[in-house]
Amino acid sequence: MSLQYYERLSNKNKAYLWHPFTQMKDYNRSDPLIIERAEGVRLFDVQGNAYFDGFSSVWLNVHGHNIPELNKAITDQLGQLAHSTLLGMANVPAIELAEKLIQLAPSGLNKVFYSDSGATGVEIAIKMAFQYWHNQGCHQKKSFITMNQAYHGDTIGAVSVGAIPLYHDVFRPMLFPSHTIPYPYAYRHKDGAAGAKEATLTALRTLLETRSEEVAALIVEPIVQGASGIIVMPPGCLREMALLCRQYDVLFIADEVATGFGRTGAMFACDLEGVSPDLMVIGKGLTGGYLPVAATLATDEIYDAFYADYEEQKTFFHGHSFTGNPLGCAVAIASLKLFEERNLLTTVRTNASFVERKLHMLTERPHVGEIRQKGLMIGIELVRDKASREPYDWADRIGVRVTMRARELGLLTRPLGNVVVFIPPLASTSDELDAMLDILADSIIDVTEGDAA
Ligand SMILES: *Cc1c(COP(=O)(O)O)cnc(C)c1O
Repeated sequence: MSLQYYERLSNKNKAYLWHPFTQMKDYNRSDPLIIERAEGVRLFDVQGNAYFDGFSSVWLNVHGHNIPELNKAITDQLGQLAHSTLLGMANVPAIELAEKLIQLAPSGLNKVFYSDSGATGVEIAIKMAFQYWHNQGCHQKKSFITMNQAYHGDTIGAVSVGAIPLYHDVFRPMLFPSHTIPYPYAYRHKDGAAGAKEATLTALRTLLETRSEEVAALIVEPIVQGASGIIVMPPGCLREMALLCRQYDVLFIADEVATGFGRTGAMFACDLEGVSPDLMVIGKGLTGGYLPVAATLATDEIYDAFYADYEEQKTFFHGHSFTGNPLGCAVAIASLKLFEERNLLTTVRTNASFVERKLHMLTERPHVGEIRQKGLMIGIELVRDKASREPYDWADRIGVRVTMRARELGLLTRPLGNVVVFIPPLASTSDELDAMLDILADSIIDVTEGDAA
């Protein structure tokens, strides 16, 4: 493509677009990356440069891009019906997908309520939990427990159970208050994994002992807290949290938006510890990362609390225009079919071991503090001083600089503060992972140890 073509698009981009999670003043000073097409695990910009999709287009992509089976599912469905509402009526792919999801989900989850993003799925889980108690006359059970540094999406309800100060504090005056317990962050806890786990469970137990009559639900990112920096829970923690909630009659909401659909090596992170939540939110990888479909899964017990004569006013009055979109549901069904046909969960585990072995090359580097991994969710925490674990100052923008260097070398990802994220498409081959990790390692070494460090 000609330079003028790029310049024209770049100027229009800066003139008309406002990007999410982006300081536009920085962005408009840079040469924007403008993606035109994709093939497998590579994205191509309008100038023809190729980049590995090292973050699965923000944690969505499963089988790679431009996959014939997934494309066909969408075009086949397009010839039938692009959209029709789920308000009071159904469509074929929405029904078929719901059955499939119930078969795959942890036991006890028997109903599917669709929406169109992780945030709306969380919003629905929160409102369902609240109204579940309300419909049974428990009007005092209306608050929520969340975890320190939690991220559940960007709508107001989801932000109310969010706990990342940089994103959420500005909105605090307009949010409902939530209880916050510590997330077990072993690397930054003085007593390591055991101490971090104990602190979390003690805080939860204490809170439930004193306040459970006013708590509707606990919401958690199971096993891996994503946006806070890919922080992996010590073993057994999730299971014990779920047991405590059951014991104190507080609903357990699992936000599997990031962890669901094989990302951690199990279909859902809850499966890793045999946890069956009362409500489970899924999104991101649900459609293979192709189209915006999310869902909130509920137990019969929750569903039954809304099931009544109309006059009782127990209906769940919530919905979105594109709830249960047939194109999205059709591609989700096709994606789940590929999961089975290609034994993708086995591939994820093999890929995860490969990545783990390969990342050993970074463990001794002077600014690599901790390498965290669960399945194909990887976070590399960079530190100014390895021995004291002193973090880089946020003004150093160390994560941003590493990912900019990676982009120059042909790999796309986004940092989370001082944590470099590696979340490749699940179906990447070992050769592709090898090439991606070489770039990632070179970028970390160039930026933290090179002349400009
Ligand atoms: C991405 C994410 C969300 C929000 O999903 P959107 O589709 O971006 O609204 C919610 N929860 C978790 C754990 C996530 O990672």
